[in-house]
Amino acid sequence: MNNDSLLKRIESKRDEVVALTQDLVRIPTTNPPGDAYEACARLLGERLAKRGFAVEYIRATGAPGDRDSHPRINVVARYEGQPGGECVHFNSHIDVVEAGSGWSSDPFGADIRDGKVYGRGTCDMKGGLASSVIACEAILEEGLPFAGALEISGTVDEESGGFAGVGYLAERGYFTKPRVHHVIIPEPLGVDRICLGHRGVWWGEVETLGRIAHGSMPFLGDSAINHMSAFIHLLETQLQPRLSQRHTAEPVEPPGARVSTLNINSLHGGQVEQLFSMDALNRPTGDLPSPVVAHSCRAVLDRRFIAEENLEAVKAEIVAMLDELKCSRPGFNYGIKDIMSFVPTATPKDAPVVLATARAIARVLGREASYISSPGTYDQKHIVRTAKLDACIAYGPGILNLAHQPDEYVGIQELVDSAKIMALAALSLTQGTRAP
Ligand SMILES: [Zn+2]
Repeated sequence: MNNDSLLKRIESKRDEVVALTQDLVRIPTTNPPGDAYEACARLLGERLAKRGFAVEYIRATGAPGDRDSHPRINVVARYEGQPGGECVHFNSHIDVVEAGSGWSSDPFGADIRDGKVYGRGTCDMKGGLASSVIACEAILEEGLPFAGALEISGTVDEESGGFAGVGYLAERGYFTKPRVHHVIIPEPLGVDRICLGHRGVWWGEVETLGRIAHGSMPFLGDSAINHMSAFIHLLETQLQPRLSQRHTAEPVEPPGARVSTLNINSLHGGQVEQLFSMDALNRPTGDLPSPVVAHSCRAVLDRRFIAEENLEAVKAEIVAMLDELKCSRPGFNYGIKDIMSFVPTATPKDAPVVLATARAIARVLGREASYISSPGTYDQKHIVRTAKLDACIAYGPGILNLAHQPDEYVGIQELVDSAKIMALAALSLTQGTRAP
């Protein structure tokens, strides 16, 4: 079967994929705090229910962030084909980050200019979601026989870790065989690139301890901030140079991320920040600080590690530096906490979902797919770790560098092309015609 008619049908849906992208973008699902999730989930669920999908709304009760003012509502839609086949699941997050400033048009207006749809979430990743919906609808409208099932989900909170979204669903079996066999996440990695996985991450908090005293007589106390600065000095002069020499064989994009990295995410020492400001006469107004020697200083570390490293060694390396300071620096004392961690993932290049997508890219675009890995994690981490499903890729329209930026956009041609590619890949996986 050459599926020419399927591709023509998707071509004729150009206006429809644009309209759906616009409808989704016009619902400002900003996270935090997690606005309008239900409206967005319903838009998707009601549309798919009309086309014969069985639709479930799943509120992540008790998960981080879920509360009555901002319920974490996910939608999962499933269309059963003939029995005996496998299920292809398209998972998109419906949350977007705040619009921020610097926009040349309304960030939730979804205006069209020069063949692009502009707005917060166009590229990351409501455009990809729209493409996956159009892909599945076109397969059904063509009446093409397939065995197995097609699923589409819209999930929350990816931008804040996905614990009330894919993480919550994965714990409840939504991404586990025999329900689901292949997952495609339409994140904006580029229309001809297949993302196989991501680097690992360890988030931790280091606290240095001191002794409080009057700030006018600091020699009577012991400053936790001075201790922290000694630790940060070691991070900068020893650890970061060492990390930049550790190269990975994985095709991480951008290439600058093909090494291990450490970012000091935040730093806080001493008394709670006093939010004073200056009035018109340049006098401080509001709460003013009082003089104390800091008895505590906390730094949040964001350590990204490569497939060639392991989590235990990543943490041990930091603990060793702290222990060294404890020996060499009088009064140095510290605490360390794990905030969260995920190990690197990489779906094998010969997994059926990779092969099917690569074939579809070659067919639609007339060029070979390229393979990449992501510097940061995304919802694949939950699918691999919790659902134990390694047949997962990220593939979708849009330019990753535009994500979270002002004037974010997605190209209309890319929406159409990626819908064609998703449709061919899904059809091939559900028909079991997987030979390259
Ligand atoms: Zn995203």
